[in-house]
Amino acid sequence: MFDEFSDTDLAAYLEEDLDANKASKLEATLINDKHLQDRLHTIRLQIAVGEHSLGSIWRQNNLGCPSRKTLGGYLLGILPNDQKLFIQSHIEIRGCLTCQANLADLEEQQTQNQEELTARATRYYKSSIGHLSQRRQDES
Ligand SMILES: [Zn+2]
Repeated sequence: MFDEFSDTDLAAYLEEDLDANKASKLEATLINDKHLQDRLHTIRLQIAVGEHSLGSIWRQNNLGCPSRKTLGGYLLGILPNDQKLFIQSHIEIRGCLTCQANLADLEEQQTQNQEELTARATRYYKSSIGHLSQRRQDES
């Protein structure tokens, strides 16, 4: 199936966050597919006007699967709350088998690279903590 690309795939492609295999299929398809070129252009504009995260693109369009990179962040527990909830419902309520398989695969990789990933997560957390206000939800 060379013509099955979701908007999330296209956004991931633009952010260089798409599976290498899928990315090369996408590039091969793009050459001859004017419709796909237009969709890619639209998504590039969405990103350019400031919706610069995949999470916000999903929320706007109620799209499909998160990227492996995002699933990795989910496993590490470093995603913002709304993005985390999106993935949780995608996997647990919609029961997406692709993402379940991806998660299992990532989990295995992460066990192998535990120390390095923990260090990376810590750095990510430290660099984000100044910009996030996680307490807001407790004040209602
Ligand atoms: Zn999925």
